Amino acid sequence: MDEHVIKTYLRAAPVFVHGEGATLVDSDGKEYLDFLGGIAVSALGHNHPELVAALSEQLGKVMHVSNLYRHPYTEEVARRITRLAGMAEVFFCNSGTEANEAALKLALKYHFTKDTRRRDFVALQGAFHGRTLGALAVTHKASFREPFSALESNVTFVPRDDIDGLRAAIATNPAALILEPIQGEAGIHELSAEFLQAARQACTDSDTILIHDEIQTGAGRTGTFLCAQHADVTPDIATLAKPIAAGVPMGLTLISDKLSGTFVPGDHGSTFAGGPLACRAALVLLEQLLEGGLQDHVVEMGTHLSSALDSLVAAHPLVLARRGRGLMQAIQLDPRVDAPTLKDLLLESGLIVNATGPDTIRVLPPSVVQRSQIDYAVKILRQGIDAL
Ligand code: PLP
Repeated sequence: MDEHVIKTYLRAAPVFVHGEGATLVDSDGKEYLDFLGGIAVSALGHNHPELVAALSEQLGKVMHVSNLYRHPYTEEVARRITRLAGMAEVFFCNSGTEANEAALKLALKYHFTKDTRRRDFVALQGAFHGRTLGALAVTHKASFREPFSALESNVTFVPRDDIDGLRAAIATNPAALILEPIQGEAGIHELSAEFLQAARQACTDSDTILIHDEIQTGAGRTGTFLCAQHADVTPDIATLAKPIAAGVPMGLTLISDKLSGTFVPGDHGSTFAGGPLACRAALVLLEQLLEGGLQDHVVEMGTHLSSALDSLVAAHPLVLARRGRGLMQAIQLDPRVDAPTLKDLLLESGLIVNATGPDTIRVLPPSVVQRSQIDYAVKILRQGIDAL
């Protein structure tokens, strides 16, 4: 089926043709519980009635106008999201990596304008920020990064939660520090509030731009709109993507007042970004999250998921730990259980999750997931581990 597609993914066999809430259905009519949500994208699940209605209506009106012209929804999305995030302005783009490119460029332009010409970056060990050249340069995994290193910036990778190491790296006056409040691709590792606060202070003291990559953690997944709000930290730049338009491609680079005016017309752009279709989808997500009570539902389901996985840890000697928050969680397995093999077995049993390494299973269910679906998913998980 993939004869003419470049083989950058190891695709599983099922062909999904339909979905409803947290359930996907394949071409043979088999049902699956979707506890990956398109890798943290499908916050409203599949076939969400309000989303379908808004997009269908918009398709019959206008789909694309370019950023040289206006449509009615850009400012509404920008206004609502900046308010929720406690930021000032937003740049629209189409993906996570693109949002991080804009963030890195903003940091470079800030120091270029101030004539300090800082060009280096600090990132964390285990970081994943995307696949384009800038975002890749601050991504830690050598096999992803090294074949494509093309930029002149130096990047220092500091261990997570190493406050002294971070202060030493910031003391070299980089342009920016970029971090994920919970590292997703590394296997769900949450940074401590103490580390996030120390990073904020070190960046403020040295005029280093603090970038929070909230592409996987953001838009309500951990129980607050931005995950770093749990630690009461506001960055200079926050990036969002994945669930922000509930499955329609959208990325956002949010800036604080400090960076207002850094980009001027001509500095940056993106043809498809912030079009009417993506903005309508983002507005549905925001309405559901706030007016529709979905944010409260995430908190409730997150608590339920935590206790269901904690029970699994307590009951099963091969499950060593649970990590994460809200609907962004992982279990760590005994090395005798191979996580990729378990993931394949779970798929056969009708549960979609992924393995972020040899010993970690990550679960990222849609925000609309129900309590009974969490119970059923954890039951399949337990049976899968027993079967191995
Ligand atoms: N940053 C984080 C934290 C991510 O998890 C991802 C994707 O997994 C990205 C950036 C890249 O996003 P995209 O694949 O939309 O470019």
